[in-house]
Amino acid sequence: MPLDKVPETIVEKDIIRLVCGETRYEGAFIQCKNGAVILKLSNGYNTGILLSHIDNLQLIEKAIEHNSARAIHPQVNSKKNGEKGKPAPKDAAGNGNSISILSSGGTISSRVEYTTGAVFPVLDVDELLSEFPEIAQISPIRAKSVFSILSEDLTPKHWQVLAEEIREEIKSGCTGVVILHGTDTMHYTSAALSFMLQKLPVPVVLVGAQRSPDRGSSDNRQNLISALLAAKSDIATVSLCMHSTVNDDSCLLHLGTKVRKLHSSRRDAFKSVNRLPIAKIFPKEKRIEPLSSYDKRGNSPELEFDNKINGNVGLLYAHPGIKPQLVDKFADYDGIVVAGTGFGHVSTNPSNDKLALPVIGNLKALIDSDVKVVMAPQTIFGRVNLNVYSAGRLLKEIGVIGDGCDFTPETALVKLMWVLGHEKKYAKVKKEMETNIAGEITERSLLIDE
Ligand code: GLU
Repeated sequence: MPLDKVPETIVEKDIIRLVCGETRYEGAFIQCKNGAVILKLSNGYNTGILLSHIDNLQLIEKAIEHNSARAIHPQVNSKKNGEKGKPAPKDAAGNGNSISILSSGGTISSRVEYTTGAVFPVLDVDELLSEFPEIAQISPIRAKSVFSILSEDLTPKHWQVLAEEIREEIKSGCTGVVILHGTDTMHYTSAALSFMLQKLPVPVVLVGAQRSPDRGSSDNRQNLISALLAAKSDIATVSLCMHSTVNDDSCLLHLGTKVRKLHSSRRDAFKSVNRLPIAKIFPKEKRIEPLSSYDKRGNSPELEFDNKINGNVGLLYAHPGIKPQLVDKFADYDGIVVAGTGFGHVSTNPSNDKLALPVIGNLKALIDSDVKVVMAPQTIFGRVNLNVYSAGRLLKEIGVIGDGCDFTPETALVKLMWVLGHEKKYAKVKKEMETNIAGEITERSLLIDE
């Protein structure tokens, strides 16, 4: 018989055990809210378990019998943003069947204080459950704030920390990981995590919101619920979950390396590029409809973790009239991605036009001084082809990397940072950049029409 309420004799900070089938949860009782019991686990995390999932509640120690929850659980109230929490051992804290929610900041992880209008980050399970009580219907969760910053402030160093945090959550035996993230650079982070965390045993789902929770049109609820469904599914890869259309019926799950923010404000701002999305998620029906192939949970028991990265890589956007001296500024970099026009072009001026400002000589000087230069299409959709026009052939001749690749400039940038974190030799960097590693290069570019 599931529990229908917490006995009145149980008070805050009492140490209790919850028996849920085979799983046991032990921790300090915080409160019972929206049909879920909130516990502070011994590792400092909070977790919420739906009353209907609890077979038995046992009192282990009354609050008055120990000094305070803080004395028994040193991390209680002491965990600040960015501080590392210890992962809980799988069985002792019952993490084996919970989804870990890690927050990095952004609109999705904020709540509005109505008296002042100030926006605060949501940090804890009990806060998340009070904002989104439906969460408890999907899975037990644990939550942690890793950063609380706008995504435009993130750097490759933040990606490294995030990857480590995810690895710790996976080690602790979670079902899946959901990352709350600002949308502006969410596709850079999803690409970085795709290279750093390969052969994932569980899903890692990034989710954001375009509209803040104080607005009627906020997409935070639908996106978060859909992300949790994805984290519970068998889609064991790095993905990004956002509204599929401007309507509130479904979300799309995109592959982490093949997605881009393509609108500044619409709720369906993210689109899969040159690849079909992985799945469509219907949160109200709790249904997932696969749209393309994906790595399945259970196929890769061992995570391949490698978060080495070289942040000394830049992105140059080619445009008519670009100053050749601008290219020279990249001499201090280890690599650059050129977002080229069309098939991957910059001005090479094969017709010797008097007004043209060719930059090919400047790019050659960079390559000769061992700066790796990678071409990616600024058209976003389609692929680089350096064999069609003379401009492309000239660029290929001087050693520009990327011919045939259909990665986005953003994914190419992140990939070059990751590759240069491991390799320095031109031939090896070229080979790795032009070989598919995490789904970033496809044989045939496919699109969804919506
Ligand atoms: N620009 C901020 C960010 O990307 C807030 C907006 C959002 O969460 O999408 O973090």
